[in-house]
Amino acid sequence: MAVKDEQHSPLHILLFPFLAPGHLIPIADMAALFASRGVRCTILTTPVNAAIIRSAVDRANDAFRGSDCPAIDISVVPFPDVGLPPGVENGNALTSPADRLKFFQAVAELREPFDRFLADNHPDAVVSDSFFHWSTDAAAEHGVPRLGFLGSSMFAGSCNESTLRNNPLETAADDPDALVSLPGLPHRVELRRSQMMDPKKRPDHWALLESVNAADQKSFGEVFNSFHELEPDYVEHYQTTLGRRTWLVGPVALASKDMAGRGSTSARSPDADSCLRWLDTKQPGSVVYVSFGTLIRFSPAELHELARGLDLSGKNFVWVLGRAGPDSSEWMPQGFADLITPRGDRGFIIRGWAPQMLILTHRALGGFVTHCGWNSTLESVSAGVPMVTWPRFADQFQNEKLIVEVLKVGVSIGAKDYGSGIENHDVIRGEVIAESIGKLMGSSEESDAIQRKAKDLGAEARSAVENGGSSYNDVGRLMDELMARRSSVKVGEDIIPTNDGL
Ligand code: UDP
Repeated sequence: MAVKDEQHSPLHILLFPFLAPGHLIPIADMAALFASRGVRCTILTTPVNAAIIRSAVDRANDAFRGSDCPAIDISVVPFPDVGLPPGVENGNALTSPADRLKFFQAVAELREPFDRFLADNHPDAVVSDSFFHWSTDAAAEHGVPRLGFLGSSMFAGSCNESTLRNNPLETAADDPDALVSLPGLPHRVELRRSQMMDPKKRPDHWALLESVNAADQKSFGEVFNSFHELEPDYVEHYQTTLGRRTWLVGPVALASKDMAGRGSTSARSPDADSCLRWLDTKQPGSVVYVSFGTLIRFSPAELHELARGLDLSGKNFVWVLGRAGPDSSEWMPQGFADLITPRGDRGFIIRGWAPQMLILTHRALGGFVTHCGWNSTLESVSAGVPMVTWPRFADQFQNEKLIVEVLKVGVSIGAKDYGSGIENHDVIRGEVIAESIGKLMGSSEESDAIQRKAKDLGAEARSAVENGGSSYNDVGRLMDELMARRSSVKVGEDIIPTNDGL
């Protein structure tokens, strides 16, 4: 029996992120986290996507220099030629359903470089984005344990699992406002029909979710960017009721060595620096931060109402508008421009990439209007900042339930219609937006309770990743298990697959 020879070399983990910023950023953070625990990490991705995580990886490697922590590598492979324009390699660059189809074809073709990496390098494990469902079989063929990474909450994962198992929309009333229960969960979870992904309207999406769930289920296990204290009932549900092996290693953003540039492809936006200086001039808890992640586009009518809502709320605000989007002449209400001048001094607009972690952790922050993307949600939780929830699609309506009904650290704006980042949405009136911000950041008993709960949860999030905390311990447990597996794997010329869940 030949035991893998480099018994004392560090574990080597391949991380394989999906091609969207919200998937790449936590994977780069996870690499920094694992490397800080002595694991050699390689991230496999394409050139444009490598640029998104380059600064996070460089800063982590700078921080590790001179220590025992192995440097993180990025293995860059060409983006498959599927007829997309040069440079379009990421979900946030897609503007039409036709491009989306080509993009998913390219995603499928990444199996070849993934296979090649495993064949050439035999890592000890792979953390694969769950969207690469085929990577379960590919990893098994190479005898490499695959850890699925859904990039969402365990709550949303459990909602998905229940939805796929029971397809509750099939028997629900046709009325878009009909309440649909998701069976078999620790809490009563009900969504409006209009807030759910309808398999009849989106059969491809449903099929993808089915493949993702099946692939994660037959993996060696699953890692979550979450922590036990946040959603203990859903950890129990996953592990005991569903019998799935999970490790909770988050919030991974707290491992980032690059709070300022994390996720940004360009040199730091001048807006970012002035924004932080502007925040320094504001009273603690007086500013609401407004950002909808990296994939969502608002129509001019929605932007108009949001601007009115921010004005009517009477609160200071930082609003991330990004570079793309309609010209301000198409949506800016009269008088709004004055609010963002030094004289008006009510608001700050960031056109470009915002240093979200630095903004959320600034003492001037009092609330976050968010689309409930899981990274933004967990970053807000970690910073102790309560949320106004404004979901649009994917896991966002489920995360809203977790934030508002289970954790009680948010106020819902009342979004009802499920639709992707590039689809049109119902316009929510400025008055409603202002009222939700008021409920979150006001001085009523309800606001106080939400703000207190958010602060407590933030403290728990930060403790979870400290030495001896629940996520710290889960990382250790995972590494011990992978190390033990390495010792027990017999190798001759080739690694022989074992039957331990691959
Ligand atoms: N982000 C950022 N600056 C921006 C926009 C986004 O740092 O200007 C980061 C944000 O902190 C989060 C990620 O991008 O880590 C967005 O992920 P999320 O899951 O919240 O939303 P998605 O973009 O995937 O919908």
